[in-house]
Amino acid sequence: MRVTIFGTGYVGLVTGTCLADVGHDVVCVDIDQAKVDGLNRGVIPIYEPGLEPMVKANHAAGRLTFTTDAPSAIAHGDIIFIAVGTPPDEDGSADLKYVLAVARTIGGHLERGVVVVNKSTVPVGTADKVRQTIAGELAARGVDVAFDVVSNPEFLKEGDAVNDCMRPDRIIVGASSQQAIDRLKRLYAPFNRNHERIVVMDVRSAELTKYAANAMLATKISFMNEIANIAERVGADVEMVRQGIGSDPRIGWHFIYPGAGYGGSCFPKDVQALARTSQQHGYRAELLGAVESVNERQKGHLFELIERHYGGSIAGRTFAVWGLAFKPNTDDMREASSRRLLQQLWDAGARVRAYDPEATEEAQRIFGEREDLVLCDSARAALADADALVVVTEWKQFRSPDFQRLRQSLTDAVIFDGRNLYHPDEVEAAGLAYYGIGRGRSI
Ligand code: NAD
Repeated sequence: MRVTIFGTGYVGLVTGTCLADVGHDVVCVDIDQAKVDGLNRGVIPIYEPGLEPMVKANHAAGRLTFTTDAPSAIAHGDIIFIAVGTPPDEDGSADLKYVLAVARTIGGHLERGVVVVNKSTVPVGTADKVRQTIAGELAARGVDVAFDVVSNPEFLKEGDAVNDCMRPDRIIVGASSQQAIDRLKRLYAPFNRNHERIVVMDVRSAELTKYAANAMLATKISFMNEIANIAERVGADVEMVRQGIGSDPRIGWHFIYPGAGYGGSCFPKDVQALARTSQQHGYRAELLGAVESVNERQKGHLFELIERHYGGSIAGRTFAVWGLAFKPNTDDMREASSRRLLQQLWDAGARVRAYDPEATEEAQRIFGEREDLVLCDSARAALADADALVVVTEWKQFRSPDFQRLRQSLTDAVIFDGRNLYHPDEVEAAGLAYYGIGRGRSI
């Protein structure tokens, strides 16, 4: 099928590539000329495992092309995806300016019947706004073409996005027209072969499903961080508690890891946006507010542990920081806990030597040149002249360090483990002081 995708970010690029990989003819359109030029030369703007060879192979095969020419891209697609960003507005609601700009562009150039599919995460009611915007543009041009607007929220996880896209848990299709549903079923048929994954529902339920999923996951994380903070105070180890509760199948093992708070481009903004939507409808979502405030507090927790250890005298010290991305296997630092920590350390007069396997370039872009930051090219290089080690992102390569060597490298022989990667006994046996999250025994 002929597919057009507006927005070539994490969602648009991965979706376009996976659709091309199963044989669809995909045109990706973006307003970022440099990104499009780079993609046409084989430069992939994001780090996502497995993505680069797929983009290159499908581009070379002519099934995946990149352009800034919106009118020709609109003429190409029988299905037109909107996969642009929906950042938080000043009041926490989702800013729809990019989504509605695409709707205006579509309405400004559409000449034949298409299905417009909204893949961006958008508040309930946005499909109606997109429909009205396109219809308004068509009316202004005096053009009469039939089109459908469908909600098809995306559930891919950064760091595992290609796998999620090729083998989705579910494909949510929110639509009111049978013709649009049939077209999407045909589009997704290659991903739906061994068992039924497509869940068809009304548009508003589909829009809400995306927020409900992210809010649920964020709730699990904040819940566990709450338990961790209690564990710390009562002298319990949250890692034991985690194993104790995860074995209950009603609770399960996923997403019950305490840590330095959730970040990324989705959970923080989606929890806020859902709270804002509910407020706009006259309902105060108490739980969502708590999920957010627990997370905000948690992002400052590593610094509190550091302050506690040093009795507040942090100025002049050097901290090795392992991990800058908001989670492993991505270079994305949007809302990353590392950003809060680094800012707190700098405000307190400390210096940072940081290492991340993929996010160095992004950190360079965000922080620029500064005297109190050295971006290192290995975990070991970050330790040079450092007083203490802080682990912020749970990259696999940080899991089994040589603790003896760490003790020799670190002037103060102390580890602040923001992801509970290590066992306190093992670290302490090597002669290092250990601080984890919610590990009351060791604090
Ligand atoms: P992103 O910021 O990585 O990419 C957005 C892209 O859209 C950019 O390349 C930008 O240049 C482009 N763009 C903006 N305006 C445009 C226009 N008028 N025409 C064409 N392109 C335009 O965003 P993302 O992370 O891919 O997220 C996109 C949407 O998907 C958001 O609503 C997000 O909440 C949602 N989502 C993201 C994830 C994720 O893990 N990143 C997962 C599920 C859902």
